[in-house]
Amino acid sequence: MKDTSKHQGLRNQLANVLQAKGIIDENVLKAVRKIPRHLFIDSSFESHAYQDKAFPIAAEQTISMPYTVAFQTQTLEVKRGDKVLEIGTGSGYQTAVLLSLNAEVYSIERQRELFKKTSLFLPKLGYKPKMFIFGDGYKGLPEQAPFDKIIVTAGAPFVPKPLLRQLKVGGRLLIPVGDKTQIMTLFIRKSDKEFEKKELGDFAFVPMLGEKN
Ligand code: SAH
Repeated sequence: MKDTSKHQGLRNQLANVLQAKGIIDENVLKAVRKIPRHLFIDSSFESHAYQDKAFPIAAEQTISMPYTVAFQTQTLEVKRGDKVLEIGTGSGYQTAVLLSLNAEVYSIERQRELFKKTSLFLPKLGYKPKMFIFGDGYKGLPEQAPFDKIIVTAGAPFVPKPLLRQLKVGGRLLIPVGDKTQIMTLFIRKSDKEFEKKELGDFAFVPMLGEKN
């Protein structure tokens, strides 16, 4: 696992690209400059690792585009010590960004192969979530609820009710909703029963897997 000054230079450039696309949260940009994204993807794609692109990982899944990761993280307004639930660990890159912001991260992955791979890999790089869970993100993690923030990194056909329930009052759920393309949707819990909903534009994610697939 090698990280060189050339990689560092490419990361700085990527952070500039993201900034030009509207990412203004300095802590998010700092995380992009710091995390060696080339180590999260297959080595055959290494030379493209710092382009703003999604790439295949294992089990027909993808590592999200850096812009998408940065946008989701910025929109969540993650603060030090926030308890964050992540649905779709995947490569662990988004997890590493959340951990760089000093969040306490609980991350759920539904594919065993990816779960195994990433739960071994991330700690080796020094990124240690509070919990890696092999399970179904539609259900959330009721035993650890409530959460300050919940982030879904796969396209959800609908908003799972358990995720709304597991949010603290004042908390934020950010979820891409839709089938072929998704609308990034933010829910802010205003009270026990009230949620404010904001739609934040179109994105493309791999589908969130349900019981049938
Ligand atoms: N944040 C990850 C995104 C990976 S793609 C990254 O940038 O690497 C989406 C991930 O969600 C995949 O790993 C997929 O296996 C996982 N996933 C799909 N459906 C899920 C579900 N119901 N529960 C938990 N994870 C799920």
